[in-house]
Amino acid sequence: MNISLTKLEQLYQLPFNELIKKSHDVYRRHHTINNIHLCGSLSIKTGNCPEDCAYCPQSVHYQTDVSKQALLDCNDILNIALRAKTHGVTHFCLGAAWRHVPKGNTFQKVLEIVEQVNRIGLQVCCSMGSVSEEQTEALFEAGCSTYNYNLDTSPEFYSNIITTRPFESRYQILQMIRKSKLKISCGGILGMGESIADRLKLIYLISQLSPQPEMVPLNLLVAIKGTPLEHEPFIDPFEYVRIIALARIAMPQTIIAMAAGRHQLSFETQALAFFSGANAIYIGERILITPTPDLNADFNMLKKLGMKAHENNLDIRQ
Ligand code: SAM
Ligand code: SF4
Repeated sequence: MNISLTKLEQLYQLPFNELIKKSHDVYRRHHTINNIHLCGSLSIKTGNCPEDCAYCPQSVHYQTDVSKQALLDCNDILNIALRAKTHGVTHFCLGAAWRHVPKGNTFQKVLEIVEQVNRIGLQVCCSMGSVSEEQTEALFEAGCSTYNYNLDTSPEFYSNIITTRPFESRYQILQMIRKSKLKISCGGILGMGESIADRLKLIYLISQLSPQPEMVPLNLLVAIKGTPLEHEPFIDPFEYVRIIALARIAMPQTIIAMAAGRHQLSFETQALAFFSGANAIYIGERILITPTPDLNADFNMLKKLGMKAHENNLDIRQ
């Protein structure tokens, strides 16, 4: 049975060590300890997005330093994907600053990109905004295994962050994707000024999807100049680890990823997050448009911790 919101609230109140001991036990029961899923990502279309997500430098509503870029050429994408593969990445996310996945010729180009990236042996995840049922079908047929569609925050806090779309429609589309053949990656961003209750509600709602998402990326806000959240203070790292622990307890089989903003965490905090049940990271030059830690530093950290890359990543179709 899925976890209740009350149970999540009780767990959150536990002393830190008790909470992470519980989540570590859940993690151990359901996963191969010390194996980490390595994910890569690329922004294939950058900027000019009509949505007004307050954290996002790609929104047309804010003046930021992000350079706009039309849909990248398939060969350029393939080269970057191949490089990621040589680093051990097996799950590759193609992100695009679109409100909806486009139709017509552009969609045909997207399908070709998906097919080519899948053909080099990477599991393809698409993160391209809202998507129709027919498009989920076509993406799946082209070789996409997962669709990323984040809820970002609680329904109560949502309108403080995004006004161009309501939370309810986001949740409905998520449920439609859940019914498609695609796996789901659904997470949020922590540290946008939301309360602890908002964070718990986010984890609760994500965990209510049936079946639960295959992957939950937990981003930390990267406060970017020019966005309304540029001066937002960084979240207390212990609070981040607590949310990782709750996500692990609420979704025992899900892959919990430390996603955007990981470069702002110390190795020690990341080690605590791994202990608490985080079992995926995004590596490479960037995670879409936000920075990632230096690749060698990441490999050193994993080595020090005795962790290695999962060979058969994410247990989803090749
Ligand atoms: N436009 C699509 C959408 O929003 O679904 C996909 C691309 S969007 C860049 C993918 C995700 O990146 C967002 O859902 C958000 O969670 C994350 N993101 C964007 N800017 C961020 C920031 N400044 N800090 C942390 N996460 C961020
Ligand atoms: Fe657009 Fe996605 Fe950025 Fe929101 S997060 S502004 S939808 S690219």
